[in-house]
Amino acid sequence: MDRLKFLHALTLLPLAGVTMKLRELDKILSPKNSTDKMPVLFLGHGSPMNAIEENEFVDGFRETAIKLPVPTAILCVSAHWETKGTFVTAMENPRTIHDFGGFPKALYDVQYPAAGSPEMAAETKKIIQKTEIGLDHHWGLDHGAWSVIKHLYPKANVPVIQLSLDYTKPPQYHYDLARELSALRRKGVLIVGSGNMVHNLSMVAWDKLNVSGFGFDWAIEANEKMKQMILNGDHLGLTNYNNQGRSFQLAVPTPEHYLPLLYTLALQEKNDDISLFNDKAIAGSLTMTSVLIDQK
Ligand code: ZN
Repeated sequence: MDRLKFLHALTLLPLAGVTMKLRELDKILSPKNSTDKMPVLFLGHGSPMNAIEENEFVDGFRETAIKLPVPTAILCVSAHWETKGTFVTAMENPRTIHDFGGFPKALYDVQYPAAGSPEMAAETKKIIQKTEIGLDHHWGLDHGAWSVIKHLYPKANVPVIQLSLDYTKPPQYHYDLARELSALRRKGVLIVGSGNMVHNLSMVAWDKLNVSGFGFDWAIEANEKMKQMILNGDHLGLTNYNNQGRSFQLAVPTPEHYLPLLYTLALQEKNDDISLFNDKAIAGSLTMTSVLIDQK
């Protein structure tokens, strides 16, 4: 049964039929061909306020989502979940975590009620050989995940799991671990790294928040170099970001917002295209530059 016929048949079923479990639906709607690969994203998430504001970045997330096949699930590697060891969320219903302070009530009121996927968590644990993956039942969805995924799938109708960042490990470890996730692309899973390529909160130009595209010279320099390396496939150079000079040191003072980029790039294969969007600096010391990897 093809997709359209299936969806039409669903509307004719009695209620009990319509309430078939989401995972059964997922199986039917997943890419038919084992050679079909889901795209991979890196999303610059910036301020949590992007969750509730209308702006060019939010438009960019939406426009990108329209181009993508509907995934069976999303696996998000967020800058905001750092752990000792690597974990994957495995609960049925992850809570919406408001892991920030000092924002308007409207932001704390946001709920993103996407289901989890214990099955996909178990599958992720199974395919990763590099380390033992822990199944987590306490985290949920942090704002690195929900503040951007809500613009991709506003109906929260795609299950979401998160994979944590092991803060004890070097960049190459993360890159190698990410490569083991490639099988999930062929199971209809959209893998999303969420961080910021240039992210230095201690140097934010608070007086320039409303100046569109404002970036300090070092931020623009680092962002341009990173973009060239991304487009040239220089993953080794990007993994060795600590040896790329002063602009990189200022752009990546701590690794957590940068590492999700490595998870995304590690999944690029020979027959994939790579493109950039939301490529703009904000507040002097951040860039929103985002990456789409998709098969040709
Ligand atoms: Zn962040």
